Amino acid sequence: MSDSSLRLVWVYPDLLSTYGDRGNVLVVERRARQRGLDVTRIDVRSDQPVPTSGDIYLIGGGEDRPQRLAAERLRVDPGLPRAVENGAIVFSVCAGYQILGHEFINDLGQREAGLGLLDVHSTRGEGARNVGDILAEVDPRLGLPPLTGFENHQGITHLGQGVSPLATVQVGGGNGTGDGTEGAWRDTVFGTYLHGPVMARNPALADLLLKLALDVSALPPTDTTWYDALRSERIAATRQQQNA
Ligand code: GLN
Repeated sequence: MSDSSLRLVWVYPDLLSTYGDRGNVLVVERRARQRGLDVTRIDVRSDQPVPTSGDIYLIGGGEDRPQRLAAERLRVDPGLPRAVENGAIVFSVCAGYQILGHEFINDLGQREAGLGLLDVHSTRGEGARNVGDILAEVDPRLGLPPLTGFENHQGITHLGQGVSPLATVQVGGGNGTGDGTEGAWRDTVFGTYLHGPVMARNPALADLLLKLALDVSALPPTDTTWYDALRSERIAATRQQQNA
């Protein structure tokens, strides 16, 4: 961390925040404050420069057109790549995930360059959108319980050699490549298709980002009664969706 305050940056709330992805910022902020951390939250609108000195950057999902507009702006702003060079943590969802890759298909049906911060590229699925609840086992190196979330995307994301899948789907489409992978990560940069918001359904994920930012292996426990209730309800519903 750069100073005593944890700098939490929410990138482009005006363009990228579908399906309650704003909740990701709220949960990370809350779980940091519950551990007594001082948090500076920086909401960066798309007409503002992305700061380079953040500790954790969150990027949400978006519809196809806002996704293109966001990519156009982020490509000419050196802030996010510089932050990653400085060791910042970036967690991206759906459209945000696709933008962090090398390229995706935009709303005009054209190939649109991303930031290349994750070695992935996204194409457009020819079949039905991947819509529904997801249940996925996380890469064991990350030491997290199963991920629960909600997906809604046409894009299909192909992973290169430079990343690992974030998780393996038990239920749901994930990256949509048919190989059972969901999301991607490398070092401190993460991408997922999970909404929910994903941090509310998986508080251990929020804690992972905090542990990386603080460079600690554990955090003081918190009361997770409400998170646990939400997780059990959604995981049960997801299993029913699988059996339907
Ligand atoms: N527009 C992208 C797609 O459909 C991402 C959608 C989203 O962020 N929910 O693939």
